[in-house]
Amino acid sequence: MNTFLLRQGLVVTSDTTFIGDVLVVKGVIADVQESISAPAGTHVIDATNCWVGPGFVDLHTHLREPGREESETVMSGSLAAAVGGYCAIVAMPNTEPALDNVALVAYVLERGAQCPIDVAVAGAITQGRRGEKLAPIAEMAALGVRLFSDDGTGVQDPSLMRRALTYAKPLGVRLAQHCEDEMLAGGGTMNEGALSSRLGLVGRPALAEELMVLRDIELVRLTGGAVHFMHLSTARSISLVAAARAEGLAVTCEVAPHHFTLDEGACEQFDPLFKVHPPLRTSSDVAALRLALISGTVDAVATDHAPHAPELKDLPFDEAPAGMLGLEHAASLTYEAMGAQNCEPTQFFNLLSRAPARIAQLRAGDSRMKLSGHGGALHVGEDANLVIFDPHARWTVRRDEMRSRSTNTPYDGRAMLGRVRTTLARGALVVDDGALT
Ligand SMILES: [Zn+2]
Repeated sequence: MNTFLLRQGLVVTSDTTFIGDVLVVKGVIADVQESISAPAGTHVIDATNCWVGPGFVDLHTHLREPGREESETVMSGSLAAAVGGYCAIVAMPNTEPALDNVALVAYVLERGAQCPIDVAVAGAITQGRRGEKLAPIAEMAALGVRLFSDDGTGVQDPSLMRRALTYAKPLGVRLAQHCEDEMLAGGGTMNEGALSSRLGLVGRPALAEELMVLRDIELVRLTGGAVHFMHLSTARSISLVAAARAEGLAVTCEVAPHHFTLDEGACEQFDPLFKVHPPLRTSSDVAALRLALISGTVDAVATDHAPHAPELKDLPFDEAPAGMLGLEHAASLTYEAMGAQNCEPTQFFNLLSRAPARIAQLRAGDSRMKLSGHGGALHVGEDANLVIFDPHARWTVRRDEMRSRSTNTPYDGRAMLGRVRTTLARGALVVDDGALT
């Protein structure tokens, strides 16, 4: 395995930053200092004017394998992730069939083992994600699964969710909830409000999300279990979780780049590229989410990368599937939302790497899936999962240049500031100068 020297970048540890060099030998961080002389045969990567931090970890990736390989495979999704600076992703279980048993989880883990980055798997909470009977959570946990979710929908039945929490607690695993009460959200295609009325589209009210957030906070209080709230989209959801956390309840949450970048106005042209669940909300929700990134009120940024083959996304707005690509532009959008040149690098890496690694139990020594350690502090001895982010780079999103097998990005043609330049995963150079090696 090669030796790499990342030279003269802004090294972002967990509590400080300094200009320095990072030496990687045989997959491990071998030295971190203000200046290191490169041993013979070292591959030197100039990181001047760039940030060097732990590779990103995505808590929320849809890989579509098995069942919808025309939209994405484990391999194609992992390559898109690497381009976005990710060294680990958590594959969501809403494949066809759903990842609700040991054999299917093992299948995706095997496919993931062939990828250049680490692929962890979330198991379904209920059989077939139907929300009726619990899936064999303990068996999947024995295989190393640490997150469970019916994502695509939330667990609607509160007594079933209560049982799942009680069951999960002694296993040390966490339930990740897609918060939408389907009775309230039912049939809606965009945010409910004056705009949905004017466009003649059925709305999904903010309350559909907030009610389930509130319900699950109370179920955490009742059971002593742990819930991770996925892709929260409203100001009120964020403040509910913040209040619960302040009480000491075991709750964490993520927000997705589209929810802090785009508002419901994007739906005005009936372009299904902007259809997503939960839906794009109001501009004041967007502003609240941006503030929460900076203040640390939210734990993590997660992409909700949801590839759909073109023939599916070409349907009319109310028939098209919900979801959009996320992996390849999440870091740039996060940087922009955190104020670009005012973006604080330590908090940037907390949101994109350290907190998600902690929530998914992918830190060094945590992983039960035989994956490497993520979200590190850039200390000697850590697994070399590293990213070089150039905060000054300007680029334009081109859907035809995406590495994902799908092209359903809502940002085609959009100018971006800040870009992932290098991804070093498990000590190997996977992305160099923004392109796969
Ligand atoms: Zn979801």
